[in-house]
Amino acid sequence: MCIVMKTPFKYLGMIAIVGFISCNEKSTEATANNEADNATLTEADAPVKSVLTAAEQADLSADEIIERLKEGNMNFVNNDLTRRDHSEQRRLTAMGQYPKAIVLSCVDSRVPVEDVFDLGIGDIFVARVAGNIENKDIVGSMEFATAVAGSKVIVVLGHTACGAVKHAIDNTDAAGLGMDNLQGLLNEIRPVLANHEGKEHTSKDVDFTNTIINENVVKTVNDIKASSPTLNKMSEEGKVKIVGATYNMETGKVDFY
Ligand SMILES: [Zn+2]
Repeated sequence: MCIVMKTPFKYLGMIAIVGFISCNEKSTEATANNEADNATLTEADAPVKSVLTAAEQADLSADEIIERLKEGNMNFVNNDLTRRDHSEQRRLTAMGQYPKAIVLSCVDSRVPVEDVFDLGIGDIFVARVAGNIENKDIVGSMEFATAVAGSKVIVVLGHTACGAVKHAIDNTDAAGLGMDNLQGLLNEIRPVLANHEGKEHTSKDVDFTNTIINENVVKTVNDIKASSPTLNKMSEEGKVKIVGATYNMETGKVDFY
């Protein structure tokens, strides 16, 4: 701020000169600051070229990783995704990877997992299967991701309006339609419905469907622990966190639970 405005009137003439000089200095300073701001802006706008290193992966705790996933999701919700230099990230990760988490998601095309958490190449493993159920191959992949590759968080990510869950609720005869393998998948989800016997439900009941979507995620988390002594032990020792979450297709927000 120019000092002229704070000076007694009788000294105005003399001070005006000082003030002028002072303002000029400030003006030069402001120009320098603007240039610095512009430099900062340019730096902030530059695409991220770095990737997770072994040291960074080792330093991150499971809770910190979950916090970063939440922060990244807020960037997605606010349409403020980080710009990344994918060519450089691809080059840097070609010889190795140190992902911080593995996410098990439904195959739904409306759940772009890396974008949902504002992540780039080498940041996370992603396993996908309709209805985000677990099976031996997926749990084996999780064992690799954590016990071998150093990830500390497993996220089971359900989503609103999940078609697999809806068909499980409606007891769709997939086998009768020639989709025996899909029937097996739906059968994996149906035990969740046993908690709600005694009342007729259809997938048109959105609240009920959302309840089943969340309960199916919890079931998958429990199934993972039950089917892998290694993951269960790592979870009990606090080396790995296995958490459930649901992606809201309308808002983009992921709620962890
Ligand atoms: Zn789905």
